[in-house]
Amino acid sequence: MNRRALRGRDIKADVGLRRKYADKLVALVTEMHRSTVYWLMAEYKRQLPRVEKLMATDGAMALADDASPARDMLARLRQQMRRHRAIIDEKAQGYAEWFAARANSGATARTKASLSEMFGFTVGMKGITRNVNNVLQSVIAENVALIKSIPEKYFTELEGLVMRSVRTGRDIATLTDELEHRYDVARDRALLIARDQNNKASASISRARMQDAGVEMAIWRHSSRAKHPRPSHLEADGKIFPLSEGLLIDGEYIFPGEEINCGCTAAPYVERMTARSAEAMNAAKQAPDSPLRRAERSGE
Ligand SMILES: [Zn+2]
Repeated sequence: MNRRALRGRDIKADVGLRRKYADKLVALVTEMHRSTVYWLMAEYKRQLPRVEKLMATDGAMALADDASPARDMLARLRQQMRRHRAIIDEKAQGYAEWFAARANSGATARTKASLSEMFGFTVGMKGITRNVNNVLQSVIAENVALIKSIPEKYFTELEGLVMRSVRTGRDIATLTDELEHRYDVARDRALLIARDQNNKASASISRARMQDAGVEMAIWRHSSRAKHPRPSHLEADGKIFPLSEGLLIDGEYIFPGEEINCGCTAAPYVERMTARSAEAMNAAKQAPDSPLRRAERSGE
């Protein structure tokens, strides 16, 4: 082992930001669910006598008619979906920008602390560099898409559920139970998005920050907090990899936090202090003003 090599502290994701982001997403899900259930229950009670009457006389055949309760409910459920999709679409961009700005300030501060401790002097972090801006733009785009997917998945499942309920003349209590289950699924998904995106954003921003500071290598750190650790990631703990390429794991070059639910992180590693790393550290250029910086300044 190289005695002159420098090893920094690993740069972890911010648990506080994960919680705040999760709270925002769960609030979206809860609002959508409450309002939909309230509407659906009233509608279902209204349609149930029609369903029961049809079941008693003509059976399932009549339910296939254009004017059947199932068709009525489906059309109205789609109206509800459009309404909620519009509400959530409108919030998605703002939430994603807020999240990216927070992830950036946190990951930048932690990278700065890790590098400064490792080098023994304060390492400057200059605004939003081009490298960092690219990362933040992709974080925003990915989160916008994920937030918008919340009502899509929820209403697709709800449609199937409601159709089965109407066709079989299912009672309200059973439908209520099933709706609660759909809520749990949607909420768990919101929690997963917050956790996974927080890990990913932190890892990719800190990687860009390290590279901007002239650090070319890092040490893979496996997260001990993972409930179901991937054996290959556990094995990767302590391995050194180039920040431009990633580490070869299971036949692929990947970065910490890149795979779904991967909580692995990176710690800066410098073989030896080179003129290049010292120079690059001072040369990190500030990129033009972006929506992100404005979002960062405007706070929550
Ligand atoms: Zn991992």
